[in-house]
Amino acid sequence: MKRADIVFSGMRPTGRLHIGNYWGALKNWVGLQNRYSCLFCVADWHMLTTGYNDTSHIQENCREMVLDWLAAGLDPSKCVIFRQSDVPEHAELALMLGMVTPLSMLEHNPTWKEQLQELAKTKAGMAAAGEATHYEENKQGVSYELRTFGFLGYPVLQAADVLLYHGTKVPVGQDQLPHLELSREIARKFNHAFGPVFAEPQPLLTSAPKVPGTDSRKMSKSYGNAIDLCEAAASLETKVKAMYTDPTRKRATDPGHPEPCPENEPGCAVFSLHTLYADEAFVKARGEDCRAGRLGCSACKKDLLAEMSGPFDAFRARRDSYKVSDVDAVLSSGAEKARAVARETMAEVRAAMRLR
Ligand code: SF4
Repeated sequence: MKRADIVFSGMRPTGRLHIGNYWGALKNWVGLQNRYSCLFCVADWHMLTTGYNDTSHIQENCREMVLDWLAAGLDPSKCVIFRQSDVPEHAELALMLGMVTPLSMLEHNPTWKEQLQELAKTKAGMAAAGEATHYEENKQGVSYELRTFGFLGYPVLQAADVLLYHGTKVPVGQDQLPHLELSREIARKFNHAFGPVFAEPQPLLTSAPKVPGTDSRKMSKSYGNAIDLCEAAASLETKVKAMYTDPTRKRATDPGHPEPCPENEPGCAVFSLHTLYADEAFVKARGEDCRAGRLGCSACKKDLLAEMSGPFDAFRARRDSYKVSDVDAVLSSGAEKARAVARETMAEVRAAMRLR
């Protein structure tokens, strides 16, 4: 039976998702849709906060991501799937919330500061110059400003996303709790100024496995180490074969270190994926064989490929069963449902603010 809680979550449309996105969030969403009233948002306006200089693929990326959502098991009859920009009330509420949000709260947001540094680091030549810069360059070498109102204010838009639907629960990992606290603080500020309109959204803490990329670093498209959820059979094989293993192991008979440990960070990426795609008994035996030097890494990768091939084939088949028009229909019906709620909330907000 569904509970009264309303779960809200979203993803920026980066195109095809990788397995880190699946194990880190999407798999959890698929379970949540059976237990709560869920809204899952394609956060295309959030994409603009750091990527406004190139919007040429934004619509295609929205569709590709929703295809992955559907193939992974999100069911539009059980949850609302919609695109943020189809519900303009997100912008209206963000504007209103912006009125009560102190600038200092946004300027002290550690994520904003870190992201700014991270983005600036990628600017060609910056390392050589050794200078901090707030400019980024797109592929054509055109500089664009990163210290924008939109980028600084993204937590206000994030708060609006959740509060617009009176979201009571937000699935987050431990490291994302500070983001949610900003939304809660903004809700408190609004309620203090205009009366109790919003419940403070609570975290729905979820533990997600760390998914390493093929080079053992965190899986990320920007590192070029990602395995897409719908990776074709041939390229899956190529990527698995090229995966980093235990760097201390030179021969098949050398004792391996499958798990990450302080002396041997980051462990073996192949082993990490075994823990996701093989059963517990296999993982235990594989760990023992590796540590005892009873197995070569090529054979181990072959086993991993065999484990992954079935789920990947099934995923691609489910994905191929949807047409672009199916995605458009899902988004359009989701937008209607989301807007119905959003309009009611904005009527409450305007009344509380004595606007109309
Ligand atoms: S045998 Fe397997 S688990 Fe051990 S280091 Fe090689 S690839 Fe990793």
